[in-house]
Amino acid sequence: MKKLTLLLLLCLSPCAVGDGLPDLGDVSQAVLTPVQERQIGQQSMMQIRASKQYLDDAEINDYLNQLGSRLVENSTEPGLGFEFFSLNDYSVNAFAMPGGFIGVNSGLLLIVQSESELASVLGHEIAHVTQHHLARMVAGQKGDSLASMAAIAFAILAARSNPQAAQAAMTGVQAHSMQKQLDFTRTHEQEADRIGLEILQKSNFNIHAMPEFLERLQKATRLLDGNMPGYLRTHPITSERVADIENRVHKQPYRLIEDSLDFQLVRTKLIAAQKNAPDAITYFSDALGAQKHGNPVAQRYGLVGALLRNNEIKRAEQELAILRKQAKSNPMIETLAGQVKRAAKNDADALAFYRTAVQNYPQHRALIYDYADLLLQSNQAEDAIKLLTEQLVRHPSDTTLYSLQAHGYAIQGKRLEQHQAQAYAYAWQGNLFAAIEQLELAKQAGGSFYQLSIVETDLRELREMAEARGKR
Ligand SMILES: [Zn+2]
Repeated sequence: MKKLTLLLLLCLSPCAVGDGLPDLGDVSQAVLTPVQERQIGQQSMMQIRASKQYLDDAEINDYLNQLGSRLVENSTEPGLGFEFFSLNDYSVNAFAMPGGFIGVNSGLLLIVQSESELASVLGHEIAHVTQHHLARMVAGQKGDSLASMAAIAFAILAARSNPQAAQAAMTGVQAHSMQKQLDFTRTHEQEADRIGLEILQKSNFNIHAMPEFLERLQKATRLLDGNMPGYLRTHPITSERVADIENRVHKQPYRLIEDSLDFQLVRTKLIAAQKNAPDAITYFSDALGAQKHGNPVAQRYGLVGALLRNNEIKRAEQELAILRKQAKSNPMIETLAGQVKRAAKNDADALAFYRTAVQNYPQHRALIYDYADLLLQSNQAEDAIKLLTEQLVRHPSDTTLYSLQAHGYAIQGKRLEQHQAQAYAYAWQGNLFAAIEQLELAKQAGGSFYQLSIVETDLRELREMAEARGKR
């Protein structure tokens, strides 16, 4: 089997494979190449993954990517490999980094009142990327290396969302010229609105959701008095901006677009995460009892999850049985069903359940994690590794898949492979030093000439990246 090295994995776009870091050429030019943008985004992404704010929930992130790719297909750059991810942050915000990396705060997912509203924010962010707004700001800063460019991209984002924290982030970055760049913001916002609206319309969402959301946010802010949500700092909403959008949509017919079940389940998961288990049980039971607001399928999904957390397995099984009758087949509900089965400690039953579920939903990562974990617990490491390796082809930066794979190799006593997989997990978390340590251990464990040469190549690459980071 062909094994990709870290170097190739880290350069998702074609990039110069030579000694040291990919050659960025003259980055002081006004416009960055798509490859440069991608690499800057990739570097910033490593920092975000290493931070506590990164929300490592495959179901929420998979949902955002499904919704996002539906919108990207209708953008001017459908071929650009976008990555959408969530942040564990209850302030309302979303942001775009060069190269198509789009972050969404949990606070935004909770405040939107429809999927079309969420899509309107994503469409706006996608437009920032396809119009290369941040990239143009970064290029104007005349950075001299990949690492310093990524730092500037990061600092601009920080400056726009939180001016105080920005003071700290701006060390080494010329604050003066950054201010000049920020003045472009208003033009950028209007352009992103206009193009985002086109994306929203082509993707069959309710275009009226865009002005509605902005207006509501603007009203809410007046009451907050000085405590402005991050979204309003990064994307200043002026009355002019809202009026501009309203002019574009007001003649268009109002279309009621139903929210997807996935949208509702993701929100339910986030609502539940804000409460302790007994409170969540009360909350979802009351909601179901009231039979007025919201979606009963999503409410029961929340209830089953809360019962499971509270170790009320029997009741969880009963409610789950009702849920599965009520709902159309859905991978998030199947994942929860598997977790209830595992909690009931009937492993043979659970294994049979996962075999079918994984066939039905081969792309649902949360389901794959749980199945692989159960296989490892049941001493079926070979099957687990096969499953994980297949998934890694599709998700080459998934740290949970690597960690589970490392666990499997440990059971098999394959020490080189174990440390190598663990190194990849750490590298993608942005923890370069821990990754280097694991590769050293892999080298010591010994292996074939071919395996060792891959380890050597990865080691050299990671050391260079760590060194470049140190210089910044
Ligand atoms: Zn914006």
